[in-house]
Amino acid sequence: MGGIFGVVSKKECVLDLFFGTDYHSHLGTRRAGMAMYGDRGFDRAIHNIQNSPFRTKFERDVSEFNGRIGIGCISDYEPQPLLIQSHLGSYAITTVCKINNIEELVNEAYNVGRTQFLEMSGSNINPTELVASLINQKDTIEEGIEYALERVDGSLTLLVMTDKGIYAGRDLYGRTPLIIGKKEEEAYCVAFESFSYLNLGYHDVKELGPGEIVYITEEGYEILRPARDTMKICTFLWIYYGYPTSTYEGINVEDMRYRCGEALARRDCVSPDIVAGVPDSGTAHAIGYANESGIPFARPFIKYTPTWPRSFMPTDQSQRNLIAKMKLIPVDKLIRGKSLLLIDDSIVRGTQLRETTEFLYNSGAGEVHIRPACPPLLHGCRFLNFSRSNSEYDLITRRIIREREGENVSDEVLAEYADPDSELYKEMIEEIRKQLNFTSLRFHRLDDMVQSVGIAKEKLCTYCWDKQGDCKNCASCGGCK
Ligand code: SF4
Repeated sequence: MGGIFGVVSKKECVLDLFFGTDYHSHLGTRRAGMAMYGDRGFDRAIHNIQNSPFRTKFERDVSEFNGRIGIGCISDYEPQPLLIQSHLGSYAITTVCKINNIEELVNEAYNVGRTQFLEMSGSNINPTELVASLINQKDTIEEGIEYALERVDGSLTLLVMTDKGIYAGRDLYGRTPLIIGKKEEEAYCVAFESFSYLNLGYHDVKELGPGEIVYITEEGYEILRPARDTMKICTFLWIYYGYPTSTYEGINVEDMRYRCGEALARRDCVSPDIVAGVPDSGTAHAIGYANESGIPFARPFIKYTPTWPRSFMPTDQSQRNLIAKMKLIPVDKLIRGKSLLLIDDSIVRGTQLRETTEFLYNSGAGEVHIRPACPPLLHGCRFLNFSRSNSEYDLITRRIIREREGENVSDEVLAEYADPDSELYKEMIEEIRKQLNFTSLRFHRLDDMVQSVGIAKEKLCTYCWDKQGDCKNCASCGGCK
């Protein structure tokens, strides 16, 4: 994933940029960057944040930067923002993107002219640089951004900063959010996360719609391209990776998670001693469950946070599992002899949740009932740079379906596995329960999840559960347009 932040001000705004970008740190663990236009022209710093958080890494840059306009990012993949010189002038660019047709677009760029790209390690091309090359194929930045949004298969939300203002463009289908904030008489900012500017004195002004492009200066903003009708905002923003204090399309994350938990509780029939959430993303769902059911919420294991910053996240899965385990400390009194109901945001491989369950049994738990806050994940995400899985067979559901059906499973059969009222679904859930050694297992239903968000299903991407939402590659659709 990744997050972006920009600010244009009548005054020096280095600290606004620094803290505004830092508040996106939960969206990525690898790279971060800031670019400003000040006395020395364009200035930029990029650091690796894998083993040290954003604030520590950029402390020195803050004292060296100056200016009244800047953009910043947290990136899970490529180094950015990039500084570009082209026939459109000098600009800085940062993106949140996943480009599935990167090869096609690179080859097209080679054919248009003798273009060159800098090579990143691993022989890859920096996707943000490719987006800049798409923009540069047009006569104005505005036209270029519109062209880039249209050409990318996957998703693209971006900020382009000149010496005078910031162009902001939201993904064509609004898969990732972008919102403008205002500090009275002083500045405008634009952010992925709406909470990122509240403590800096800004308030919400306007959430961009799908495909909308705006130009922001210290005086205000101008709409360059209006929002489109078709929206497929990522539902996983609310379920897992959006920050609880953020609001997308008017729906707050924490509040939505309470509704998820309440819906899970209404359909349930077990009577555990306590309800708990796998920290941190399961906690709000568990509060909702506890409030609805009347069963007490408790924390039978607690994260040891002082020396385990979230940004310390190795790429190797077994090391990640070890760290996840080392972070959790049991509270014997809340576990021994107790029946626990545990809510996690989702089940991907199941490895971590199986280990957590083992850990609870070993700590004396009598029963461990598991309630994931979303339906079984059946498809890998093809729209966001989401590091949860490399192959669909990383998903426990797909491994079980492969064991039962073989390698080539049709979309119709997968749709049956996604239907919570079908026999195939029930058998798959029972198999997951057995493999992961849970006392009982019940997933959130897709219809309940959509209702918990409170937005019409046709405006949500639900691809990872039911393969709905790939508008660009959908030949037969019509209903959601
Ligand atoms: S496939 Fe899933 S994670 Fe990806 S954009 Fe759609 S809802 Fe979000």
